[in-house]
Amino acid sequence: MMANTLNGKELLPDQTSLALCNVDKSDHNWMVNTIASLEAAKCPDCGVLSTSRHSSYLRHLRDLPIQGRVVKLRVRVGRWRCGNPAVSGGSSANA
Ligand SMILES: [Zn+2]
Repeated sequence: MMANTLNGKELLPDQTSLALCNVDKSDHNWMVNTIASLEAAKCPDCGVLSTSRHSSYLRHLRDLPIQGRVVKLRVRVGRWRCGNPAVSGGSSANA
């Protein structure tokens, strides 16, 4: 893969759940900014699907050296509120 043909979308492993926002390019590193675009997420405790996202945070997934550049993948992911009343205060699913 040639560096001059590489674009941000080729850096994303799964474009159905990640949406590319922008790529900040400098001489020595690229910052790939993405948003997790899932409409819902499963609660890791009870497995019930939640569709109520109550906040989000940035996660730095990995550093990917490509063609001598440091490529950092940054994903904004949602925090989801568990929809299962059986889970006490549940709000821990990440997507
Ligand atoms: Zn739950």
